[in-house]
Amino acid sequence: MVDDRRTVELNPLFARVGEATSFPRNRIPESESLPETAYQVIHDEAMLDGNARMNLATFVGTWMDDYANRLYREAFDKNMVDKDEYPATADIEDRCWRMIAALWNAPDPDHTAGTSTMGSSEACMLGGLALKRRWQHRRRQDGASTDSPNLVMSSAVQVCWEKFCNFFDVEPRYVPITEEHKVFDGHDLESYVDENTIGVVAILGVTYTGMYEPVKDISAALDRIQNDTGLDVRIHVDAASGGMIAPFLQPELEWDFRLPRVASINVSGHKYGLVYPGLGWIVWRQAEDLPEDLIARVSYLGGDMPTFALNFSRPGAQVLLQYYLFLQLGMDGYRRVQQNTIDVARYLASEIGTLPEFDLWNEAQDIPVFAWRLAASADRQWTLYDLSDRLRMKGWIVPAYPMPDNLTDVTVQRIVVRNGMSHDLASFLVRDLRACVDHLNQANGTPPDAQRSGFHH
Ligand SMILES: *Cc1c(COP(=O)(O)O)cnc(C)c1O
Repeated sequence: MVDDRRTVELNPLFARVGEATSFPRNRIPESESLPETAYQVIHDEAMLDGNARMNLATFVGTWMDDYANRLYREAFDKNMVDKDEYPATADIEDRCWRMIAALWNAPDPDHTAGTSTMGSSEACMLGGLALKRRWQHRRRQDGASTDSPNLVMSSAVQVCWEKFCNFFDVEPRYVPITEEHKVFDGHDLESYVDENTIGVVAILGVTYTGMYEPVKDISAALDRIQNDTGLDVRIHVDAASGGMIAPFLQPELEWDFRLPRVASINVSGHKYGLVYPGLGWIVWRQAEDLPEDLIARVSYLGGDMPTFALNFSRPGAQVLLQYYLFLQLGMDGYRRVQQNTIDVARYLASEIGTLPEFDLWNEAQDIPVFAWRLAASADRQWTLYDLSDRLRMKGWIVPAYPMPDNLTDVTVQRIVVRNGMSHDLASFLVRDLRACVDHLNQANGTPPDAQRSGFHH
């Protein structure tokens, strides 16, 4: 979208005598302005970003308590890569990923490999790179070609996996989801996997619907393939959201390092890890799963410290915030918070499921996320996109979108419940959603113009 307005105007209430009354929109201004003026302009514009609590589209944390905010302010300046300058932050980073490794049942959390990242996207790149490099080493040892690596995953993967394949020259092999196989579950896997497969991605909390892929079934399918063909294919679990839900709400579910085939797992600290945007984690089953030749050394207290990341400098404050939450909440606190969040999601799913217009795709049984589609009806004249628009008029952001390949004719609408969505707020959403549906039903069949009542004084 081209914005052809050339200037940003100052509100005359706070423009100071002698100051310019506008800023050029797309150029650095020639002259200086008072800090309070610049602040006010940005403050007022940022307000237009909307109300994060009514945004049910995003997974990313938007609220932390006052102590977290205080820590954040105290740690703005910390640079995660500078282990020498910030050894305490570096140490806390290590403690955090070891805690997460233990949470995911790594065989030896104190001696494996892990790191913080900017988010799950970076973590997935690192997980994919490690798989690719291990495969390359094995192929070279065997004197075999490394020309055409491929990665097998669901068609419902998050876009970061398409990026990984694009950036690092790996052929993506998508297993389509269907009405029979609503998630990738390992069926037919033998027709996708071959000697050029660097790994299989399993998703714990599919972005489209919030459903878990059954990692154990996928792993069992790979066991069968190994029996039949000798191919030993490892799994990376993209647990961007589920990695901080399953250990608390479904502790018996075996999806993590309890499965020997799982080589690495990522999670977004800024999703159900409950930290502000800018934090992800990845942990490998054991140190050997991260090939040594991918590791860079940075200076640390006169010695050196291994790092593996795409970024060099990046903020360290979020790592301290994650540690704050681990200490403050503990296992019990995380359990309580996540349970509350999923209770709200299930309440919303059951309310929405009772409306005759909708069929639930899932019921927030896994992470606090669920989706629904329109029930078949011959004479309905509205779509979920219309409903999404109407909800937006009431301030709610509840996106509608097509499902991925092979199911693109199915449109779903999705709600992501995050901490901060109270039962109270959820009941307002149900009320508003009912009103929107009633409105759309009433307008059904009426020509568009007649739906708009005129403006009367
Ligand atoms: C959100 C998400 C990502 C990307 O994570 P960021 O932390 O936003 O980079 C990757 N995979 C899945 C399954 C996700 O839900």
